Amino acid sequence: MKRPKKIQLIILPLVILLLSGSLFSRNLIMNEKSQEIPVLTYHCLTDDPAIAKSDPLYVSSKKFAEDLDYLKKNGYTTIFAKDMDQPLPPKPVVITFDDGYKNNDTYGYPLLKQYGMKATIFIIASAMGSDRKLTWPEARALADSGVIDIQSHTYNLHHRLEDGTASMEQGSKETETAYRSRVNEDINQTNERFDQYMGYRPKAFAYPYGAYNVLNDQILKAADYTVTFTSENKIGKKNDSLYLFPRVEIYEHTSLGYLLMKYTLINLFS
Ligand SMILES: [Zn+2]
Repeated sequence: MKRPKKIQLIILPLVILLLSGSLFSRNLIMNEKSQEIPVLTYHCLTDDPAIAKSDPLYVSSKKFAEDLDYLKKNGYTTIFAKDMDQPLPPKPVVITFDDGYKNNDTYGYPLLKQYGMKATIFIIASAMGSDRKLTWPEARALADSGVIDIQSHTYNLHHRLEDGTASMEQGSKETETAYRSRVNEDINQTNERFDQYMGYRPKAFAYPYGAYNVLNDQILKAADYTVTFTSENKIGKKNDSLYLFPRVEIYEHTSLGYLLMKYTLINLFS
């Protein structure tokens, strides 16, 4: 016998309600032990909806404002990436921008300021002032505002080597010694530029192309970085190591609410 549709319509929401209730209580228990720190990755912002629709690097300023609004309404507090080792607010979230685009300043800064929120920009130090990128004085002004913190995305290891490997990786014909000195030299160059233009040295680092390995992880730790980020799509927790911390990429079509719920559920069952 077929069950009347009406009953199905009542049972289904009840099951969902019961299930979400038990998940919710598990979530509360888990949060006491291990608080989540969602780290969101953006690249470019635009006020042109057509660009936001067609280029995956871009998110519209409208969507970015909606994301900030969602975070505010849901009780999140934004913190800088470099402050992840400090005491955390109840619902921390880290907003990051990669590559140091000028449009982060043009469209992101005013919205962040309006919402009383913070973000971190990972810059490629050698590319400052080049095509569509922030200049050093612009980066300094952003950092001085207290709204946006500037951290490192390498000096000049954001490209591919001749053999196709990411330049943060060891080349197929490169010795370990040569690789170590190449990465260390890049860190020294970054520090010199930050000393000169920013008045501090970076503590947080985002791996270009998410290209991390045992050696470059060691090198960054030895160079006094306190937090490093991969591009692994996950939400990390307070008890996790702050090295190789995961981030979730945000696209124009991403629903932030759905995404945060999805990764929370994955954390619950993993
Ligand atoms: Zn990048």
